[in-house]
Amino acid sequence: MKKTEAIVVKHTGSHYLLTVPPGWNLFPAVLRGRMRQKGSSSTNPVAVGDRVMFDLPDGKDTASGLPDTENPAVITEILPRKNYMIRRSANLSRQSHIIAANVDMAFIVVTVDFPEVKLPFLDRILVTCEVYGIPATIVLNKCDLYGPGHRETVEAFHSIYEGAGYPVMDVSAATGAGTEELRKACTDRVCLFSGVSGVGKSSLIKALDPSLDPRTGEISQSHLQGRHTTTFYEMYRLASGGYIIDTPGIRGFGLVDLGREEIALYFPEMLRVSGDCRFTPCTHTHEPGCAVKAAVEAGTISFERYSSYLGMLEEEQKYR
Ligand code: GDP
Ligand code: ZN
Repeated sequence: MKKTEAIVVKHTGSHYLLTVPPGWNLFPAVLRGRMRQKGSSSTNPVAVGDRVMFDLPDGKDTASGLPDTENPAVITEILPRKNYMIRRSANLSRQSHIIAANVDMAFIVVTVDFPEVKLPFLDRILVTCEVYGIPATIVLNKCDLYGPGHRETVEAFHSIYEGAGYPVMDVSAATGAGTEELRKACTDRVCLFSGVSGVGKSSLIKALDPSLDPRTGEISQSHLQGRHTTTFYEMYRLASGGYIIDTPGIRGFGLVDLGREEIALYFPEMLRVSGDCRFTPCTHTHEPGCAVKAAVEAGTISFERYSSYLGMLEEEQKYR
């Protein structure tokens, strides 16, 4: 039997939905029995975004008829992941949940006003992306609302994050400004969309593809599943090409706990200069000859990013 490669679009609990790229014809699949044992620390051995090999049930092929829930395809192999993001279970057990695999880009949707972005929070998300090896782009939404009074704030925001090495895209889901660039940036990629409630993430996804409506789709019903049930993430295909995975709010994002010495490794602009610190390891706080502190004083590393770093360091110490 011919083996075919597919991408996992959704996990419903009882089965997975697969599609064979670049098409978008969803069909159900189950895991071959013995594969369920593997990856036991995770509640889901197969995640949205996983590339898998599958066998078709007898009498079916992707041309003459897709598998159905009675006769699902069988996932025989999970192909190596280029990256994945996990979320530990709320009950502090060792169990973890893989949010998504093989993510090409995380788009972090923020607003400088309505609501005002909390930079330490944004920096925590960016650190998480670095830890998981997922490139991040910041999407500054609601640009139509930023008048002359916001100009300085918007410019400072660009300077802080572009200076740290993250692209910042100005968009407006309301007017469509910048959405064509965003659509292009999503093409041929698996993209994670994240952002706190109210920033316009749903509006933006709808602006990228009017046939998608995250607010009325199954995503918005995830809160009905209750706190302690697993949230099932889902991948959507943009009509213009590319796949998006909507991660609702902070609960849907796999924030990490890092050791004291590790944190600075995930601030790219700090990592770039820390080789020049006089002491190794250097916490970049009180040590003489610290290249990071020198860069903050010189303004090449932003004070805001450095403050977030100090905040994360302090938080880490509290739990020691
Ligand atoms: P979500 O919680 O991030 O999914 O945010 P929504 O998409 O539900 O949007 C929150 C509110 O912001 C709604 O009232 C939207 O109409 C509004 N909104 C979203 N995007 C924009 C935008 O680009 N400009 C303006 N002016 N309002 C927006
Ligand atoms: Zn240092």
